[in-house]
Amino acid sequence: MSKKRIAELAKLLRTYKDAYYNDQPLVSDAAYDALEDQLRELAPDHELLKSVGAPVRPKKGAAPQAWEKAPHAIPMLSLNKAVNEDEYRDWVRRCGEEAAKGKLKAIAKDLFVTEKLDGISIAVTYDKGVLSDALTRGDGQVGERILSNVRRMKGVPGKLAKPVSITARGEIFLRLSDAKKHFPGAANPRNQAAGTSKRFDGEGCEHLSVLFYDLDGEDHPTEVKKLARLKQLGLGVPFHAAGDADAVLGIYDDYNATRRAKLDYEIDGLVVRANDVHVQHMLGELGGRPRAAVAYKFPSQAKVTELLDIVWQVGSTGRITPVAVVEGVHIAGVFVQRVTLHTAGNVTELGLGIGDEVLVSRRNDVIPYIEEVVARGGGKAIALPKKCPTCRTGIEVVGEYLACRNVACAGLVEGRIKSWLKVQDVLDWGEVLVAQLVAAELVTEPSDLYRLKAEQIAKLERQGMTIATKVLDNLRAKLPISLPTFLAALGIENFGLETAKRLVAAGLDSLDKLQTASAETIAAIPQVGAVKGKAVADGLAARKAEIARLAAVGVVPVTRATGGPLTGKTFCFTGALSRPRKDFEQLVEERGGTLLSGVTKDLHYLVMADPGSGSSKAQKARQYGTQCLDEAGFQALIDAADAAPPTKTPAKTPTKTSTKAATTTKLPMKLPTKISAKPAPTRTATKVPTKILAASLAPAKRAPKKTAAKKTAARTASRRAQV
Ligand SMILES: [Zn+2]
Repeated sequence: MSKKRIAELAKLLRTYKDAYYNDQPLVSDAAYDALEDQLRELAPDHELLKSVGAPVRPKKGAAPQAWEKAPHAIPMLSLNKAVNEDEYRDWVRRCGEEAAKGKLKAIAKDLFVTEKLDGISIAVTYDKGVLSDALTRGDGQVGERILSNVRRMKGVPGKLAKPVSITARGEIFLRLSDAKKHFPGAANPRNQAAGTSKRFDGEGCEHLSVLFYDLDGEDHPTEVKKLARLKQLGLGVPFHAAGDADAVLGIYDDYNATRRAKLDYEIDGLVVRANDVHVQHMLGELGGRPRAAVAYKFPSQAKVTELLDIVWQVGSTGRITPVAVVEGVHIAGVFVQRVTLHTAGNVTELGLGIGDEVLVSRRNDVIPYIEEVVARGGGKAIALPKKCPTCRTGIEVVGEYLACRNVACAGLVEGRIKSWLKVQDVLDWGEVLVAQLVAAELVTEPSDLYRLKAEQIAKLERQGMTIATKVLDNLRAKLPISLPTFLAALGIENFGLETAKRLVAAGLDSLDKLQTASAETIAAIPQVGAVKGKAVADGLAARKAEIARLAAVGVVPVTRATGGPLTGKTFCFTGALSRPRKDFEQLVEERGGTLLSGVTKDLHYLVMADPGSGSSKAQKARQYGTQCLDEAGFQALIDAADAAPPTKTPAKTPTKTSTKAATTTKLPMKLPTKISAKPAPTRTATKVPTKILAASLAPAKRAPKKTAAKKTAARTASRRAQV
């Protein structure tokens, strides 16, 4: 078996290597490295692991690029690599031997180390201090002139601090914080940076960053001095240090253990080189790679494994998420067997088939994902389901997602409740409790949560009165809910907190305004757009009955600036009172106050017939310093609140009739399903990967290997060698 696998791996690696050196990469660097790692495990002495690669033979006119090509004044070489301590020490020893032959200083005592940024290499030229050119690495000899894009990137000043003529080499990369903010759909920051940096319209380049690590055009005796000079000229540099071979090893271990995970960008290793520039020159090159430098890579965070199955799970808003089941592999310390694919679109885009070999990675993130198909297994392409796996209702296609629209589907019911609790960050409501409440039919909508009695929760298996009281208090403590949070918590697809805040900020600051606004009005709000506009309008219409039910149980959103006079104050009513307790509670809620069901440290006012009573609640309240009020004292507080300078009270006040009407409203069992059909976008190599639309979800259109490979080729152009 292992022999057969070795032969398979060798064949794949030869094919991919050859393609790479012909400037037509078929798979990503990460996939190549993962295959090579597998081979190393099975056959550490395989000849393929020793060869340094074929010479660069760029094919003329092959790449469909419109960027102007230009030669590098000094070629951008590839680096040798080391993947473990033995290989690193071997490199140090070999360099030492070479240096001894030439009677040079031993490099082991004076090494220079920098972070190896996982991005796109770039050479940026300044003419008399003015930015004049920027070339991608390309094949090392000839790059693409993407100056207009590089100009927009962070860390590339138009002018240097001194009027010198130099070329600085660096790396274009996407900070994780920027990826999150500006490219929320991007799974892989490097691929995103590669795509964005070559966009012809330059859109998004302002979110990319550049750091520099090398300098041509001036002579400096050491790497340390070179980087100091770069800094002095106003260019950013990555972390760097100088030290002996052991010190470098210490830095490597430190990065591997903790530092790497804390960075706001991805690095895949450290670059180690002789600090002395003269020694570097004297040691020269071997096989097109400088002898005196090595890329000391971190253990791979990606591995190749086999796809065994795809299961479909119904999530919060009814979205049906595909999860890949793979042959278990250890990746960066975790055993991975299930990998979420997030959207149905990813299944079709990757053209997944059972038995395919896939590259699974865990990058900056703890969630593993499938990056690409490395080799086809010959199995049938996976078809998208037509029915909800939970309730067997027909599925709706929404953009790149599949969704179940049966509001009674257990998957959706739990999803709605979880969304309501999660967005508000209500503590202690575990998944088990929510599932129990749904199964016991105590809860089908968020509004039901506010009708729950502690006794009902306490009766559930493994729950009890303590937990019951605690979770209900936690739920109440979040009242009143701000309008954006309320909207986001409704669990409307494509309508999260960010969008909700935008709508409110744009003047749709009450439920009335929101519920009467047209999809077009909402779409016109900056950064909202047609898709979300429609989702919001449709979603609010579909949730109209639930919004009314929430109002009926006293859950009425407030805009932050317009909370009532009692906002931030907590109340608890106990014992027999002269009027129904609900009446008192309503007075509190209408003024923005919060109700708690028991006495806690957070309680401001305990209201009861006799504040001097010796009841346990009263004792506890006195112990916490909670103020105890009788009805007259409470009424005085309300009068004082009402006399205070007017602030707006919540938009709606629940009435008795609305309570009745709402509680008897029946939910429609099923919403109409619809299929949106949009033309498939054209995908070009330089475009940022855009979300794929409904039409491209047509099942089982299996991309032939070559097409898939071409796409990867476009993504991976100019990778692998970095310096
Ligand atoms: Zn369903």
